[in-house]
Amino acid sequence: MNFDAYSTESLMFITTRPEIVFTHGKGAWLYDNNDKRYLDFIQGWAVNSFGHADDGIVEAMHKQASRLINPSPAYYNEPMARLAKLLTDNSAFDKVFFANSGAEANEGAIKLARKWGRKNKNGAYEIITFDHSFHGRTLATMSASGKAGWDTIFAPQVPGFPKAELNDIASVEALITDKTVAVMLEPIQGEGGVLPATREFMLALRELTRKHRLLLIVDEVQTGCGRTGELFAYQLSGIEPDIMTLGKGIGGGVPLAALLARDEVSVFEAGDQGGTYNGNPVMTAVGYEVISRMVAPGFLDGVRDSAAYLRQALLGLSEEYGFNGERGEGLLRALLLPSEIGPLIVNKARDLNPTGLLVNAARPNLLRFMPALNVTRDEIDQMIALLKQAIEASLPEGAATSAI
Ligand SMILES: *Cc1c(COP(=O)(O)O)cnc(C)c1O
Repeated sequence: MNFDAYSTESLMFITTRPEIVFTHGKGAWLYDNNDKRYLDFIQGWAVNSFGHADDGIVEAMHKQASRLINPSPAYYNEPMARLAKLLTDNSAFDKVFFANSGAEANEGAIKLARKWGRKNKNGAYEIITFDHSFHGRTLATMSASGKAGWDTIFAPQVPGFPKAELNDIASVEALITDKTVAVMLEPIQGEGGVLPATREFMLALRELTRKHRLLLIVDEVQTGCGRTGELFAYQLSGIEPDIMTLGKGIGGGVPLAALLARDEVSVFEAGDQGGTYNGNPVMTAVGYEVISRMVAPGFLDGVRDSAAYLRQALLGLSEEYGFNGERGEGLLRALLLPSEIGPLIVNKARDLNPTGLLVNAARPNLLRFMPALNVTRDEIDQMIALLKQAIEASLPEGAATSAI
């Protein structure tokens, strides 16, 4: 159907979007209003852990929706309890609070750390975060984020988030004062361009935070839930943080997020934390379906296997075109480009015919890949073939001819 038949003009402008409307999807494939199909290596922004319209997720939603949709957050429900237990059984944490978005889970983590500081550290409230980090789009999480320009656009900021540099332990140590209560980081900076914290840095951070009795908070909204080939990315370095947040992949596509903490840190008192939809049974039933499949024997091996295959394919491509290699962990990877042609390649890839490709340029000089965790080798091969076409259409000569 013609794009103009969809009245999108009532949607508030937040960003420029292509003139297509997505109508349905299955697995690695998305279809638009013209029935054109796209191979999807964005997957709802690293959200659809099992691809589009996954049968198990559809069934979990259906079953729960026909039983109970919302008893109110003032009461327990069965899926919320079941999912919380599954998460604590499979992580270093003892308690879970469910939220609806990564930003909301991070707000909860910030509040929990500040509350802990009030009780245990004489009102210390500062949380050291990192340059280029991304923690969400609420006022506090924007203030915690290290994105260029975000310190001023909605000024005044929420105070208390001094910024250190990733993988530079001295830069963290230099910011510690008697007001410091925690250090918060993404084990891999996703929006910042798939920049991993090194194992040595994670180990040093854990040691430093222990020494100064600070909480270590990992924002695993993007890296958690199988994305890196471990259930949670903190496991890559063998450390145990005090607080973790999850979002994106935990919901397999539906709005679900979580705040997890160790017992000693779970210090909220009645009224401190809440939210109308927290622990919604339909969302937590889906989360249970997602996590139970991820902890089933062999699943994470499959992710690591696909990741190794994707890595080799990207390295091959990089060599062929003289690019700067690739980086990442598991199925969160970036191809490093020689110049800022990322956005151009993204557009060319999407507009390929008859089959488009959806990839993201987290920064202009790289492409980010975040396929479904059950992506196949065949789909990776198809992605590389499409990407080559898009790259060739974007390289200087190609760009010049196609621009006419
Ligand atoms: C996406 C993301 C968030 C924000 O999650 P929302 O669900 O969009 O609020 C926070 N932290 C990280 C690391 C993310 O990737």
